[in-house]
Amino acid sequence: MKAVPRPALKLRKITEIAGCASRFLSGFIFHIISHMIRVLKRYFIRRRPFPEEWQNLLNSSVPYYRFLPNQRKQELKRHMPVILEEKIFEGCGGLVMTEEKRVVIAAYATILILGEPAGYYPDLKAILLYPDDYVAPVHQEDEHGFMTEGHESRSGESWDLGSIVLSWKDIQRDIHEPFNGRNLIFHEFAHQLDDRYGMSAGIGEDGRVYKPSEWNNLLASEYRDLIRQAELGRPSIFDPYGASHPAEFFSVATETFFEDSHRMKREKPKLYELFRQFYKLDPASWLPWKG
Ligand SMILES: [Zn+2]
Repeated sequence: MKAVPRPALKLRKITEIAGCASRFLSGFIFHIISHMIRVLKRYFIRRRPFPEEWQNLLNSSVPYYRFLPNQRKQELKRHMPVILEEKIFEGCGGLVMTEEKRVVIAAYATILILGEPAGYYPDLKAILLYPDDYVAPVHQEDEHGFMTEGHESRSGESWDLGSIVLSWKDIQRDIHEPFNGRNLIFHEFAHQLDDRYGMSAGIGEDGRVYKPSEWNNLLASEYRDLIRQAELGRPSIFDPYGASHPAEFFSVATETFFEDSHRMKREKPKLYELFRQFYKLDPASWLPWKG
């Protein structure tokens, strides 16, 4: 016999659907309004006059700034204040956060997205800065599934929970020895872009390609090549640390792309071209030729 829904049950279902639709609609409206407020706030932040103190800090403490073409310098000065305004910069381990430290980190983070600033690292909330390498807890699982807990010294890391951890001592090393292919800020902020856009997500830890594409195939092939070079103890234009995981390879290759651009363009022209397309920037066109 066919069951006939009782009117009270029908009414409850209609009320539930109406409540659900109303919650969805108010959530959607809240999202649209907060998005519009953010767009408007950013518009006004970008139009503010650039403080002289920040200009002096760019000249004195950000060696990369000097080599940017004029148009890129202007873009940097428009976008950098948005990062300074929206992100939390926190000193940790006794470090006192200063305007210089904030400007240095924000400037390098902005250089990475000069070609495509949309979003300003939307998943990132806070930048935690330690004076030196810091000790982080690690949990490692062996091949039998046993977990061991310990500690590891690190100079930086990027968490998809919305924070980046950096060591000021390592940043200073990069500032004083620029253009040697190493840059901690580029490295950690590249992880944020990778987490957001999945640039290394299509490649396994062993270098296997999960989803063939021009990007995945080439990144995986260069990653496997770096693993081989590292195992043989041979030098590479990439930091051997990039052989530890495809995500590390993406960040390490980003450092090389921005810091040792001419060499990467000469030795890895196809990979350089893919990175040029991804970042919508051509650092080899503005950095001095090192020979
Ligand atoms: Zn890393």
